[in-house]
Amino acid sequence: MYQFSRAIYRKLAPQILAPPIGAPEFSNHAAVLKACEDVVTRLAVDHHYFARPERTLFCQVRTYFPMSAQAHVLYVISRYMGCAQQFLIEYPLEAYTAVSGAPPQCRATTRKGSACQRTPLPRNGYCPSHQHLADTEDRELAAA
Ligand SMILES: [Zn+2]
Repeated sequence: MYQFSRAIYRKLAPQILAPPIGAPEFSNHAAVLKACEDVVTRLAVDHHYFARPERTLFCQVRTYFPMSAQAHVLYVISRYMGCAQQFLIEYPLEAYTAVSGAPPQCRATTRKGSACQRTPLPRNGYCPSHQHLADTEDRELAAA
């Protein structure tokens, strides 16, 4: 997954503004790279609860770029986050494991109150035993 955050950073790096006087030379670069990695990490482990990752990332990094580069920054972020989301659709388990170091777990809680340990189905993050929760969720979303 980090190939996407690194690609975004590499594309944007030439336009990153110099940091304020007195700050470390590469502090703005470090902030942009960290924002890219954080968003990609969250996308991989928590995409069911992450509605607009490209917007989140753009809002976090836009102040590190000049006004003239804003459209380009948004374009690059949208394009690469689109690729990351496509990758996530095709390889959800691999994406999750790549950033967290452990395989994903079902999003449900068991009757005893602990997290369900089973492997979830990619399409909704619930294991086969907890699929009914996904149906409820869809109905709540449709009603909202
Ligand atoms: Zn479960």
